Amino acid sequence: MRDLPKLSDDPQLQKMRIIPKLGYNTLKYFSTVFADFMISDHLINKYNIQAPRYTSYPTALKFEELQDSSYPGRAISNRNREARDISLYLHLPFCYSLCWFCGCTKVISRKQESSATYLEYLDKEIQLILPQMNPENRVIQVHLGGGSPTFLQPSELRWLGTRLHHHFNIADKAEMGVEIDPRRLTHDHIKALADTGFNRGSLGVQDVNPEVQKAINRIQPTEQVEQVISWLREEEFESVNFDLIYGLPHQTPKSIDSTMDEIIRLNPDRLAVYSYAHVPWMKPAQKLLDGDHLPGPIDKFRMLEQVTGKLTGNGYRAIGMDHFAKPDDELSIAQDQNNLHRNFQGYSTWANVDLYAFGMSGISQVGDVYLQNIKELNDYYEALDADQSPYIKTYSLNEDDRIRRTVIMTLMCDMQLDFDALSDQTGVAFREYFADEIENLKPFESDGFLEWTVNGFKLTNDGRFFVRNVATTFDAYFGEKKEKQFSKSV
Ligand code: SF4
Repeated sequence: MRDLPKLSDDPQLQKMRIIPKLGYNTLKYFSTVFADFMISDHLINKYNIQAPRYTSYPTALKFEELQDSSYPGRAISNRNREARDISLYLHLPFCYSLCWFCGCTKVISRKQESSATYLEYLDKEIQLILPQMNPENRVIQVHLGGGSPTFLQPSELRWLGTRLHHHFNIADKAEMGVEIDPRRLTHDHIKALADTGFNRGSLGVQDVNPEVQKAINRIQPTEQVEQVISWLREEEFESVNFDLIYGLPHQTPKSIDSTMDEIIRLNPDRLAVYSYAHVPWMKPAQKLLDGDHLPGPIDKFRMLEQVTGKLTGNGYRAIGMDHFAKPDDELSIAQDQNNLHRNFQGYSTWANVDLYAFGMSGISQVGDVYLQNIKELNDYYEALDADQSPYIKTYSLNEDDRIRRTVIMTLMCDMQLDFDALSDQTGVAFREYFADEIENLKPFESDGFLEWTVNGFKLTNDGRFFVRNVATTFDAYFGEKKEKQFSKSV
């Protein structure tokens, strides 16, 4: 499984990804260097509302308790009448210590043996749904997320990778990604991942500033990050990604400037730059953070401008919302071809690929049905002990949801809408169906966030920062008084 050729060499995979979703022309403005913006404090405050990130539509808040335990099996069987390309997500929740900013579903544990037990359950969960799946399905994407997948010992990572190849037909050049905690990692972890086909590593970096690291209880010297990068390069990983966060305690527009110089020196292929969402009423770990040193929304937004200007001025391109990639990265190429897609992991180059998630809290998307797993570890184990798949919530999209999902995901990826193309794609006359929504876009125009085009509109460079706000216009459920559970858009 070593010496994986590049994805771009595979004509079959290529064929799937080059068919544009919509017939737009290439968006030249995506390559623009974002250097000269300065959105007013007034507009930042006006648009700093709680809004979904739209990794799905409807959002997980609409999911309902599962009433009929046979429903997921039927939905999966129906969807597997024909073989298709699929994607896998495995949630590995364990972490050695708690980062105080964390909003993930994780289990803090110092007991290394916790992961061996969990892996047995994970394997059982996979085996429970295999009879409903088409054996000819081809897996083109695998993602290990968490928690910290690298909490697992190298031998456990090797075992997990081997089991995945045993259970599924994984394409030779599948994208196999893993989230990596650089602390406590060894070269053997990376070798085990590479030997079982993993070829993309995402490093949780957050910030290289020691004062910030101390404030979030995550001490991670830059040398550690550099060491991991060199192992990944040595083991010929195709892509090294960084996850960064702005809006943490002690970060300022000035400090983030030095941080970004260091990040650019480390030369990742891709970056995801997330806004820190301080929601201690939902994520109790965040109560440990020193709230006195959290930057306010204006400073936060200036940091985002700083990060965006710095990255686009140093050869990276802004991808959708909060992602950046080098011009030859597959995400950049997909964006040029209007072939970018959004899913629970952020952005992807694959269209219409069902996602099967395993592990506590995982969310599967099987055609028009979402299935969410139990979030608590003991309950997850209990369901599997009773030979039950651990689904707890579900949602089945209706016709209006399907139309709105297409519109919102197109906007989140392309930063523009072509009403004629969307009419063709959704089967409804867009201008009539969304007459009220189009009217409601006018304030965004007057605030300089969108410009009308011949067939629709596109967001300006300023407007890209507020794409979530614009997307809420098309969300039939936004305003149902659950917004407190979303993070703020700044
Ligand atoms: S940020 Fe990552 S490593 Fe830290 S507690 Fe959360 S999941 Fe674990």
